[in-house]
Amino acid sequence: MSEDAGRDCVFCRIAAGEIPAQRVAESAQVLAFRDLNAQAPTHVLLIPKQHVVASAGEMFELAAAIARDEKLDQGWRLVTNVGPHAGQTVHHLHLHLIGGRPMQWPPG
Ligand code: 5GP
Ligand code: ZN
Repeated sequence: MSEDAGRDCVFCRIAAGEIPAQRVAESAQVLAFRDLNAQAPTHVLLIPKQHVVASAGEMFELAAAIARDEKLDQGWRLVTNVGPHAGQTVHHLHLHLIGGRPMQWPPG
């Protein structure tokens, strides 16, 4: 674990149940919950339950399952922001699953 893991990390605290979140799905290593500041009708965050360890394949599989559950049959987007130029605010690996409206490319 890195230094900011645990008590100082909002996503670790959500994974631990210390901060409430609207949970959507979970698998062995991945938790999915709705973003507090949704940017689309569906905006789900997928995080590894552990601060550092992540199984990319498991995250993609759970994202696809949620997209089916949310009936995002017109399409959906997975985004990961890394670093200041991308606007990352929470330094715990996460994927944004966004859908339910038409989206532009390239993103802003
Ligand atoms: P980033 O900008 O790091 O890619 O995304 C972090 C995301 O976490 C933001 O979209 C923000 O709205 C969301 N977020 C931050 N704090 C909380 C929280 O306490 N609960 C939930 N559900 N989402 C959060
Ligand atoms: Zn964390």
